[in-house]
Amino acid sequence: MSEQGETVVADRFPEPRRTLDAEPFWRGIAQGRLLFQRCGGCRTAVWPPRSYCPYCDAPGLSWEESSGTAEIYSFSTVMRPPTPVWNDKAPYTVGLVRLAEGYYLFTEIDEEWQGIAIGQKVEVTFPPRDVPLPIFKYARNEG
Ligand SMILES: [Zn+2]
Repeated sequence: MSEQGETVVADRFPEPRRTLDAEPFWRGIAQGRLLFQRCGGCRTAVWPPRSYCPYCDAPGLSWEESSGTAEIYSFSTVMRPPTPVWNDKAPYTVGLVRLAEGYYLFTEIDEEWQGIAIGQKVEVTFPPRDVPLPIFKYARNEG
């Protein structure tokens, strides 16, 4: 709401909120690489980025490159655009994918919504756009 009480409608896509802990992730995305953290103590894959392991409290999180292969854990297709800037995009699908390394990433699943199902194999892509993001599509070697 503005000062006058009018509703302000966003006229462009929202940008991701970048935290200091996630800067290596964003540098990786700019290079077409999907990075995640792994704990030096318990070896668990950690996502989202942070300073300490949420499983064992160890401070030694290091960055690794992900295989980018995953399966769909959950998803939702947005049929009605939330603001006019989404008009050409809808319907679109977002959801959680479970990466081969064991962590979960919230992402867009860029496929025809009618065919998307839990458990399908997907892989990361980095389509060209103003703010690069990891987007998932069906894995080419599914089978
Ligand atoms: Zn740990």
